[in-house]
Amino acid sequence: MTHTHALIDTEDAARYLAEAEILASAPPGLPAPRRDVRRAGVIGAGTMGRGIAMAFANAGIAVQLVDPDAEARQRAAQAMDDAYAGAAAKARMSPEQARTARGRIALTDSLSALADADAVIEAVFEDLALKQRLYAEVCAIIDADCLLATNTSFLDLNAIGSAASHAERTVGMHFFSPANIMPLVEVVQGRDTAPQTLADALALALKLGKKPVAMRACDGFVGNRMLSRRTIEAESLLLHGALPHEVDGVLTRFGFPMGPFAMTDMAGVDVNWRTRKARGLPLAIADAICEAGRLGQKTGKGYYRYAPGSRAPIPDPQVQALIEGIAQTAGIERESFSDTEIRERLLYPMINEGVRILSEGVIRRASDIDVVWRYGYGWPAASVGPMRYADEAGLVAVCDALDRMARKTGRESLVPHPLLRELAATGRSLAAQPVPEKTPIPS
Ligand code: NAD
Repeated sequence: MTHTHALIDTEDAARYLAEAEILASAPPGLPAPRRDVRRAGVIGAGTMGRGIAMAFANAGIAVQLVDPDAEARQRAAQAMDDAYAGAAAKARMSPEQARTARGRIALTDSLSALADADAVIEAVFEDLALKQRLYAEVCAIIDADCLLATNTSFLDLNAIGSAASHAERTVGMHFFSPANIMPLVEVVQGRDTAPQTLADALALALKLGKKPVAMRACDGFVGNRMLSRRTIEAESLLLHGALPHEVDGVLTRFGFPMGPFAMTDMAGVDVNWRTRKARGLPLAIADAICEAGRLGQKTGKGYYRYAPGSRAPIPDPQVQALIEGIAQTAGIERESFSDTEIRERLLYPMINEGVRILSEGVIRRASDIDVVWRYGYGWPAASVGPMRYADEAGLVAVCDALDRMARKTGRESLVPHPLLRELAATGRSLAAQPVPEKTPIPS
């Protein structure tokens, strides 16, 4: 809706974001990075590992991509060939540049290839025991001042490093998919991460041309922790009367490249399903879509259906019937929602979670969250990110809407966070919130 954007002047938005990026990537008091990264290693040649390898190669860094599975290596080689051919075809790089970058990536089955690396990033399966074992093994091979980062999405950072008695050198570098394209890297400090390790990880992300945001570890880190709030509300909207294209339409008109359901179809409906199962978080409709074999674009149907060879989502009466059936079984009377209601239901709970994150000292300032959402999830440039958007929409209005939603749904998590209420009541903004003491800086 354009009226929600007109509040922020374009130049002001660009200035705010540029400043926010610098602040998010450079917490004060950190030492200088130890090494200029020239040789790197990536462990795991899956979706993320190959994207990270290409990010290194595109920045002129030679990289060893390690995977013990020969088929995985072969798939990765093919995927990288295709990605570079695509980049050249779309003129994102010249054919010569694409060839040179591809030539910087060597595939191997042996960790010993990492012996002279300046930085190593692991992107193996999301399995704590596997990552712990790998950390111990890799630490015995690499130099003491080689950076070793994990791309885990949800695992406990402290637990990964402590198993190898290398907690001080354990740091998260959470890339977003596709990692050769997406600018955001959440640089995550565990309980015992040394300031030097954090400094090295931030410097590496900048060298890769990424937009790093320093943060303390928390469940899901900043982006996915907030996104899971939106996922819950999107599901609830379907259950209570909306359809996938209505929900998605509100967010694309708001300026997002894609709505939540089209995004899930693109990423694979089973990806979120697997994460939810592992974490014991059922969602009736999302689970039913996945368990009906509707895995998204790759199977030609998910929340939408897709014509052969097309990525254009088409609303599907079968999905509507499935949703209505589930609502009926649950005894829910379906209602209709206005665009404003849908927008507020999706965005305000994320803002509330953002305030909770801010109050916990996970990040240093509200604008760090805006950088995460702008560069990791395509929040529309015109309103910068959720926290700046909340300031512009007015914190009193945000609190009132959250109070209404909490009353209507009975969900405790929708009650405005005390900090949000206090700022609203005293006429202050999230942007002006002072930096809390417990922040991602040397302890
Ligand atoms: P994936 O299943 O596509 O790839 C994992 C790869 O690890 C496989 O090729 C496998 O053969 C390899 N592997 C397993 N054991 C290994 C070992 N001992 N040594 C070397 N390689 C080994 O997984 P993915 O989606 O690329 O995710 C990898 C990591 O990145 C996970 O921790 C995940 O949580 C995280 N992550 C994923 C995404 C995403 O969107 N997929 C985004 C951010 C972070």
